[in-house]
Amino acid sequence: MPDPKPILLVGAGLAGSLLAVLLAKQGFPVVVAERRGDPRAKGYVGGRSINLALSVRGVTALQAAGIAEQVLADALPMPGRIMHPDTLTDATGEGTVYQPYSQDPDDAIRSVSRGGLNVALLDAADQTPGVDIRFEHRCTHVDLENATATFDTPQGEVKIEGRVIMGADGAFSAVRQAMQTSDRFDYSQQYLEAGYKELHIPAPADLPDLSKGVSEKFDGYAMDSKGLHIWAGRGGGASMMIALPNPDKSFTCTLFWPYAGTHGFDAVEPLSDKALRLFFDEHYPDTRWLMPTLVEDFRANPTSSLVTVRCRPWRRGRGLILGDAAHAIVPFFGQGMNAAFEDCRVLSEMIAEANGDLESVMDPFWRARVDNANAIADMAIANFVEMREKVADEAFLYHKRVEQAVHAQLGEEMPERATPLYNMVSFTNVPYADALRRGRELDKTIARIASLVPPERAESMDEASWRELIADHARRVLGGQPA
Ligand SMILES: Cc1cc2nc3c(=O)[nH]c(=O)nc-3n(C[C@H](O)[C@H](O)[C@H](O)COP(=O)(O)OP(=O)(O)OC[C@H]3O[C@@H](n4cnc5c(N)ncnc54)[C@H](O)[C@@H]3O)c2cc1C
Repeated sequence: MPDPKPILLVGAGLAGSLLAVLLAKQGFPVVVAERRGDPRAKGYVGGRSINLALSVRGVTALQAAGIAEQVLADALPMPGRIMHPDTLTDATGEGTVYQPYSQDPDDAIRSVSRGGLNVALLDAADQTPGVDIRFEHRCTHVDLENATATFDTPQGEVKIEGRVIMGADGAFSAVRQAMQTSDRFDYSQQYLEAGYKELHIPAPADLPDLSKGVSEKFDGYAMDSKGLHIWAGRGGGASMMIALPNPDKSFTCTLFWPYAGTHGFDAVEPLSDKALRLFFDEHYPDTRWLMPTLVEDFRANPTSSLVTVRCRPWRRGRGLILGDAAHAIVPFFGQGMNAAFEDCRVLSEMIAEANGDLESVMDPFWRARVDNANAIADMAIANFVEMREKVADEAFLYHKRVEQAVHAQLGEEMPERATPLYNMVSFTNVPYADALRRGRELDKTIARIASLVPPERAESMDEASWRELIADHARRVLGGQPA
């Protein structure tokens, strides 16, 4: 006889609302308790568009919930990186460098609106029979043994009892905090020396200094919308800015700067308005035409910290955590939401395989996920260094060129051995820990091939013969023969 009590889900963010849909579709009644008000009723907090990169893992999970098509309809594909040198003296894009993520142009990460996605997920949850969402319910106390939680609400304190309690309540999870007070719970929290701040590039209609030819060149945008823009290598390699396109023709930019140092928040925030503008003119010269509200945005938008959270076990008593609550990671691989969505898909598949015996999969679930979460946490930190320092480095660019050539020529023949790490993480559902292991092996192979066919040699060859030579060496090295 199944337990008639609902699953109590804390947090109706990205993971919580998706998980509610997936669980209810399997016949479980679900009560979702969310600290904030309903964003559909109040207008989404945050004002301007904030976007996220959605990749294959996220899409796979959305497909399981039946809402991928709807989300993808508004998503903007970004098939590569667009690098902005610090010498760019106009806004035409002349001088930027495009690096495709993959040889297959369909392999693109996609820019989606965080607010729009959350609303789409909440709508889907509301429309799924069995889901009961309660807004303005801030979880203040959790009893893991009895799957009971107490909430602060406008009507006063409310207690809800579930069959189990699941925490999808983000990096500072109340459910995880209850676990942290229990014996033999491992927990670590690591702040990056860098923080982030969002800025804004409006649509060309709001850019008085932009010549008309630029927006015509970029389909109504002020920059190419088909890529993730990166201003790397600033502040001696410690600082960078990125920008992702929005459907309203604007871009959301994010500064990732250290707090300390001459190119850090602590030094730049106290500058006068004029000095701040001059600082950007010097280090991000093309923003002169693109950011008329730079000073206002810089002052108004908060500087926020970036944290990695690792813990285990994710299950205690009748409680389970997932998403950022279990594994908050830094955003440099664009995988936090994708990993959280993958948690939801894997959990729901495991429950289905166990014929609905939810309690029996709580331990196997976290055991299957924790090494993958730790792997993407490590990769995300490593990608910060790659993005801010190496993307403009000649040797690194050659390494990437060889890697993509090997993938293009041998990817189908030997997908397990010739698929680069970035592609495995972003464009497949290969578990993160396997992707990391295979990616490291391929990295060694690529370094070996790049030393056998160095850039000087590449310069003296035409592209087709170079590719043939690279493939020849790769086939030998990957096949275990002498190169
Ligand atoms: C600058 C930045 C850029 C990012 N870019 C990307 C990207 O490009 N791609 C990507 O995949 N990921 C990205 N991420 C990561 C992504 O935002 C998170 O991994 C994702 O939001 C995790 O979803 P979640 O549902 O677990 O947590 P959240 O989205 O944080 O949702 C948690 C929910 O729980 C609610 N809550 C919290 N406490 C309580 C409480 N006590 N009681 C009740 N409710 C509570 C919150 O209000 C919220 O609605 C980025 C993160 C940052 C900071």
